[in-house]
Amino acid sequence: MKTLLFIISVVFIMSGCAPDDTADLVLLNGRIITMDEHLPEARAVAVKGDTIIAVGSNEEIYGYIGRRTRAIDLGGQPAIPGFIEGHGHFLGIGNAMMQLNLMDMRSWNVIITMVADAVQKADPGELIRGRGWHQEKWDEIPEPNVQGLPVHHSLSEISPDNPVILTHASGHMTFANAKAMEMAGITKETPDPRGGEIVRDTGGNPTGAFRQTAQGLLSSVLELWDPDINEQIDLATREVISKGITSFQDAGSSFDAIDVFRERAEDETLGVRLWVMIREPNDKLADRIAGYRITDETNEFLTVRAIKRAIDGALGTHGAWLLEPYADLPDASGFNTTPLEYLEETARLAMEYDFQLCIHAIGDRGNRETLNIYERIFSEHPEKTDLRWRVEHAQHLHPDDIPRFGELGVIASMQGIHCTSDGPWVVQRLGDRRAREGAYAWRSLLDNDAVIVNGTDAPVEDVNPILSFYASVTRRMDDGSYFYPEQRMSREEALRSYTIDAAYAAFEEDRKGSITPGKLADIVILSKDIMAVPDEEILDAEVVYTIIGGKVVYERYREQ
Ligand SMILES: [Zn+2]
Repeated sequence: MKTLLFIISVVFIMSGCAPDDTADLVLLNGRIITMDEHLPEARAVAVKGDTIIAVGSNEEIYGYIGRRTRAIDLGGQPAIPGFIEGHGHFLGIGNAMMQLNLMDMRSWNVIITMVADAVQKADPGELIRGRGWHQEKWDEIPEPNVQGLPVHHSLSEISPDNPVILTHASGHMTFANAKAMEMAGITKETPDPRGGEIVRDTGGNPTGAFRQTAQGLLSSVLELWDPDINEQIDLATREVISKGITSFQDAGSSFDAIDVFRERAEDETLGVRLWVMIREPNDKLADRIAGYRITDETNEFLTVRAIKRAIDGALGTHGAWLLEPYADLPDASGFNTTPLEYLEETARLAMEYDFQLCIHAIGDRGNRETLNIYERIFSEHPEKTDLRWRVEHAQHLHPDDIPRFGELGVIASMQGIHCTSDGPWVVQRLGDRRAREGAYAWRSLLDNDAVIVNGTDAPVEDVNPILSFYASVTRRMDDGSYFYPEQRMSREEALRSYTIDAAYAAFEEDRKGSITPGKLADIVILSKDIMAVPDEEILDAEVVYTIIGGKVVYERYREQ
């Protein structure tokens, strides 16, 4: 059923306002959840240009309506500050949309069938790429298998001439067929690189799975894949704004990508605000970083003031660096993927050029070592007090390290949806005690004065903030059970982690994160009040309008 819920009209009301006070857009008759403690709730908002000029009652806002003002009647629906995705891979979202999507596949055999179809349609020798598979989401363990992972022969048989590369949902493992391995020159004799592993059968032969840094051995084959960056930007933009995201914190892009972002921001063709962490090696950073601190020259559509690093891998692939071995792989404690001395060098560069440092840390050892580096570098610079360095994921913490976030002023950049999507196998990896004390420990972190920014790590997960919000406040998994529900956030806290606290984590709380006069008019209208409806109805909430800088960039009914 298609119902037009909203009366959109140009209203001619002569009011006593001075011409300067005439709004371009007003939102009336809503429940405006401002996230501003000075006026937590209101009925209406007035916007001029890209800025909010007034928030108040309908009567107060009528005064801002002029001849050219667009007025939207919200019909009682809630408006919230635009969602800020705190950790995603912007180009990765576009890129994933150009590959086979293996995310919801329930067995290795289904994946084989999908690849076989793609091989039929591919040119000879063309690289076939897929992403999003996860062995823990399959209904059956593949046969044969090594460590629960498939062996390449079934894939190699259906694609003898086309290289196939299938990336794990976490991004921390890659699966290749024989052709891809042959092209990359990988044999039984190829040694494991530092910080990674070529998974092997009992005879020492590569099985097709490459963990962590070993994925780099396939880079010559991956280079055959060169999708157009502007197409990736456009696909990603359409996806994120349809889900109510007005600012996107990108967890690692190259200088080349940032050059394109900058051009598009300057041309005003970037459709969502980006806040980008630079991912480049230290020597390149040292040479060029000074030219890449971008804060306010591009209509506030592009900010660059952070550096991305990773200290370890992911839990699903046994790559997260743990203090004690894995419960289900007792010989392994994960990987330190970037040497600590190298990370310290990055930290010094960040300090010198006034960049935030954002280190990916998932295991409890990875988190402890990251905090140790931060603590050491901070103590060398007592004159700098407001640095807001971040730990990306902060996923599994030793209880002793939880208070250190608040004490050091380090931001925990966490993904609500990871908890409920990975929850079913976390206890298997870590055992009950570690999972209970430190897995996705939002409540403990908040109670110890940490600031949390939420997100999805898209394309690892769907970028939809409502799914991650729901996971954050319920910790309810697909099977209906709850993952240590005592660690839930309140709805207020969860919305903060997606708005004002996310803005804080980017030094943007003066411009974003609340519906406050003087701030950017980045606002989302929802079909249901996620702050008030029963838990299960949160998931029914849809984005009705996404407004960025006072412009309606997405309308739910427009394309129907
Ligand atoms: Zn990530």
